Amino acid sequence: MNKVTVVGSGIVGLTTAICLQEKGFQVRIVAREPHLNTLSVKVGAIWFPFEVHPAEKAHRWASLAYQRYLMERDHDCGVSFIPFISAYTAESDNSWINQLPAGTVRELKPEELPKAIHFAHEAIVPLAEPHKYLPYLFHRFIENGGSFEEKAIENLQELAQLNELVINCTGLGAKALCQDDDLHPMRGQILRCEKLNVPAIVNSTKRGSLSYCIVRSDDCIIGGTDYENDWNSTINPSDTQMILDRFNTFGFDQQTPVIIEEIVGLRPRRSAVRFEFDTHYTNVFHNYGHGGAGFTVAWGCAEELSEIVSKS
Ligand SMILES: Cc1cc2nc3c(=O)[nH]c(=O)nc-3n(C[C@H](O)[C@H](O)[C@H](O)COP(=O)(O)OP(=O)(O)OC[C@H]3O[C@@H](n4cnc5c(N)ncnc54)[C@H](O)[C@@H]3O)c2cc1C
Repeated sequence: MNKVTVVGSGIVGLTTAICLQEKGFQVRIVAREPHLNTLSVKVGAIWFPFEVHPAEKAHRWASLAYQRYLMERDHDCGVSFIPFISAYTAESDNSWINQLPAGTVRELKPEELPKAIHFAHEAIVPLAEPHKYLPYLFHRFIENGGSFEEKAIENLQELAQLNELVINCTGLGAKALCQDDDLHPMRGQILRCEKLNVPAIVNSTKRGSLSYCIVRSDDCIIGGTDYENDWNSTINPSDTQMILDRFNTFGFDQQTPVIIEEIVGLRPRRSAVRFEFDTHYTNVFHNYGHGGAGFTVAWGCAEELSEIVSKS
């Protein structure tokens, strides 16, 4: 049986590991932080291709992932499909909605639009609640015969020596590991709040004015910020106030959100997802830099990657 080591246990590493198992590989995951301490566990996480590039590949991966989530939702693992409103303007690139199956997206009528929004779609999209879904994926990986080792890798040479085939799914950690100048953080502060009776919604039409609400089974996530190249991982109270103010502009008729937890996460942003064999360490395949859409595209990347490496 072919052996492979996946480095990283966020959504990208776990989906990659499972797709490789499905191709018959014996898989070990090595990661500095186990799945419950990764960025991936902190976020929404809704299917929406936000800040992931290039668009053409991201759309293909997102479409494959959508199909996977259709199968996942029957497993009681935190995956559901919910209506999600996305605002747009004349300048917006709406090509992502073409990835959605027929009959799952519609234009909102003027009388249905939240306040301060002029145009919006409502689409039925996957929601993968990470605190349920990541443990589920990890246990599935272990039950499939996988093993896990908690360990920090210092450099690419050490990474390449881990196995005859190594998949690098280290998210923002790849910046130091690969000396990657293109990879950088996009800081996102979000508020985990008591569940609200409002629709799930995003307005990402203007850089610097991101606003969204993801309604989950037991809580909701209200966001957020999209600060490029900002490494600050501490809570900024003025961001919290700004997030609440922007949320209020939707005009939903309900009480002020009750904050359970303020959270900061750094999106692993890159001009293009790094999805290729390393030219120097040719046994290493890189799969990192999924920006604000790791949950949206991870299954698609994992399926394509497992096809590529099983043929190589
Ligand atoms: C506020 C916010 C909201 C978001 N909302 C959404 C959303 O609604 N939908 C969506 O699709 N996406 C969303 N995202 C984006 C998504 O969270 C990321 O794209 C995704 O989590 C990246 O996953 P990953 O597995 O690549 O990285 P991570 O989850 O960061 O995992 C990286 C793994 O690599 C390991 N690692 C790193 N360096 C090393 C090293 N040197 N040695 C060993 N191990 C190492 C880490 O320990 C960890 O296990 C959001 C992001 C933020 C910040």
